[in-house]
Amino acid sequence: MEEPILKPCPFCGGDAVISRNVSPPGNRYVWNVARISCSLCSVMQCDEVEPAIAIRDWNRRVPMDE
Ligand SMILES: [Zn+2]
Repeated sequence: MEEPILKPCPFCGGDAVISRNVSPPGNRYVWNVARISCSLCSVMQCDEVEPAIAIRDWNRRVPMDE
């Protein structure tokens, strides 16, 4: 699996980090989602089941120089 490339935070320019949010073992409800958040301002994107989709959504924004 290749390293995902995340654009910087659209709000503050901070580094974005992707993390896996997994339900605790034995939990009544089970989830396993990808979450992208900013390490600087803590803005957070909606959880996605597919990391690729989370990355695509995070990187999708209005182009500024095209
Ligand atoms: Zn930020």
